[in-house]
Amino acid sequence: MVRIVKIKPAKEVKKRCVCKGCGATLEYVPNEIKSYHGRDMSGGPDGREWIVCPNCNKDVTLRSW
Ligand SMILES: [Zn+2]
Repeated sequence: MVRIVKIKPAKEVKKRCVCKGCGATLEYVPNEIKSYHGRDMSGGPDGREWIVCPNCNKDVTLRSW
């Protein structure tokens, strides 16, 4: 059985990025990343990963393809 030893994310999994909307430095863990996987009009892969800035509520794109 898995037990939670501590709930605060370890620094090993935390990542940082800067919101391009308001300039805030954001810290997030992988579970907070939202992603979209789809297809573009020519059938190729299309998608992105983003987080939502808690300061300005804008999407901050981490990766797109
Ligand atoms: Zn922001």
